[in-house]
Amino acid sequence: MFVLEKQGRNIWCGRFSLFPEDLVTHAISTRFGGVSQGPFASLNLALHVGDDGERVAVNRWRFCDALGLDAAQLCTAEQVHADRIARVTRAEAGRGSRIYADALPETDALMTNEPGLPLMLFFADCTPILLFDPVHHAAALAHGGWKGTVRSIAAKTVAAMGTAYGTRPADCLAAIGPSIGPCCYEIGDEVAGQFQQAMPQFASEILQKKNGHTHLNLWQANACQLLSTGLVPEHIENAATCTSCNSQVFFSYRADGGKTGRIGAVIALK
Ligand SMILES: [Zn+2]
Repeated sequence: MFVLEKQGRNIWCGRFSLFPEDLVTHAISTRFGGVSQGPFASLNLALHVGDDGERVAVNRWRFCDALGLDAAQLCTAEQVHADRIARVTRAEAGRGSRIYADALPETDALMTNEPGLPLMLFFADCTPILLFDPVHHAAALAHGGWKGTVRSIAAKTVAAMGTAYGTRPADCLAAIGPSIGPCCYEIGDEVAGQFQQAMPQFASEILQKKNGHTHLNLWQANACQLLSTGLVPEHIENAATCTSCNSQVFFSYRADGGKTGRIGAVIALK
């Protein structure tokens, strides 16, 4: 179950009941409780969208503080809608925590087995995928927009955890965060064609015709990939929360017409 919990001041944290709180800290942020203005109001967590960097720093500090995390330790990525996965060690702690140019370059998924090292990625309609392996005590976070999803970033991240930490898919827990839902995500024929080619066995589940237009179900596409890689259904939790329908609560690139902030997804091993 995905629940939004108020953490003091006006900071709200989206959490999945699947993840054991004694082993891993995780959360999805909302728009609420920050100091940013205009299209970034108020808790924009991303440095690359044109917001004031000092305000972003305050927002990150507030969100991390509510979770008991140190914002100066955040490891973030450039996020280029590709499928590179970075193995994060103590040496990468703080990368991109204050300066975007210092974030891990051309990276769309982060994984670690270091306790106390928070991984954070940023979203406005793209799908956050959080992964936790309680057996090998490893965690990962992936950015699944349509481009990352068509490149199977979720499945590739599970495979990378296997190589790096010995993660077995059957042990792995996965959460699919708030992102644009099939209700709102109309796509063109070219994108639909790429999904038909990449995931032909799931095309009927993830592509739906509505009023003559094709809608993409990114949640289901990522869930199908995780199942294909060996995760068990009861280890996958889908927030099933559309950022475009709920653009008062979450930043939504489509609903906000492009100029908007980013929510953050964070995961850190205890
Ligand atoms: Zn929607």
